Amino acid sequence: MDIPRFFNITESEHRIHNPFTPDKFVTLGAALRLKPGARVLDLGSGSGEMLCTWARDHGIVGTGIDMSPLFTAQAKLRAKELGVAHQVDFIHDDASGYIAEEKADVAACVGATWIGGGAAGTIALLAKSLCTGGIILIGEPYWRQLPPTEDIARKCLASSMSDFLSLPELLESFGNLGYDVVEMVLANQDSWDRYEAAKWLTMRRWLEENPDDELAEEIRSTLSTEPVRHVTYTREYVGWGVFALMPKLVSFPCGSVATSED
Ligand code: SAH
Repeated sequence: MDIPRFFNITESEHRIHNPFTPDKFVTLGAALRLKPGARVLDLGSGSGEMLCTWARDHGIVGTGIDMSPLFTAQAKLRAKELGVAHQVDFIHDDASGYIAEEKADVAACVGATWIGGGAAGTIALLAKSLCTGGIILIGEPYWRQLPPTEDIARKCLASSMSDFLSLPELLESFGNLGYDVVEMVLANQDSWDRYEAAKWLTMRRWLEENPDDELAEEIRSTLSTEPVRHVTYTREYVGWGVFALMPKLVSFPCGSVATSED
C-alpha cells in the first residue's frame, strides 16, 4: 500500500509535507496549551514532524497513521533522532475510517482531509476518536483571493473554484458543522515556498541520478513549469491554515451545558 510514487519522489526531502514551517508548528503547539501526557492522534502524519516535535517540546504521546511507507519510515527515524520514540508510534496504513481505541485529547488531520472524503467527513471521523473536551485539528486550503476564472482555479491545482472556500466562509462552515473555532495558525506566502520550492531542488537532484526512470519525463516537465505556476497562481490565490475546533456547548433551559455531541 502506497501513495503515488510521484509524491514520494518530489517530497522525499520534506520534513513537513504542507505549507507550514517548523516555527508554525511551534506556534500551533503553544497555542493549543498542550499538557505533558496529552494524547495526539494524527491521520496522514507524513514524516511525523508535528508529533515528534510536540513530543519533545510538550511531552505529548501520540500515534500517526500514514499510507506512505517512505514517510512512515522517516517519521520513525525522526522520533529516534529527537529521543521521543517511546512517546510516539507511527503506523503504515490507510487512515480512512481509522478510529483510535484510546480516545485522544487532540485528533488531527493536517493537509489530508480526503482521508474522510473532505473536511466535514474528516471532522466526523476524528470526532469518533476524541475525548470529551478534546480538540480537533484540521489543515485545509482556502482562497486567499477568489480566482477570477475557473481556468485560474485549475492552475491553482483545484478541480474547480468550488473546491475551496474563502477564509471567512471556511470558518463559518466549521460553525455550521457544530464546532467552535478555538484557535488557528495560518500559512503565508513564505511558508508556501518552503513546501513548493523545496520540491524543485529535490526534483533537480533526483533527475540527475535517475535520468532513465519511467517518471523522469514527468518530473522534468514538472520542474520546468512548477516555479512559474507556483508564483503566478498558488502563491497568490491559495491560503492554507490549521484550525482548532471544539464541539459547541449547548445550553439547556435549566442552565446546564453539554457539548453538541453528548
Ligand atoms: N500531516 C503531514 C502530511 C500531510 S501530506 C504533515 O503535516 O507533514 C498528506 C499525507 O497524507 C501524506 O503523508 C500521504 O502519504 C498521506 N496519505 C494520503 N492518503 C492517505 C490515506 N488514505 N491514509 C493515510 N495517509 C494518507
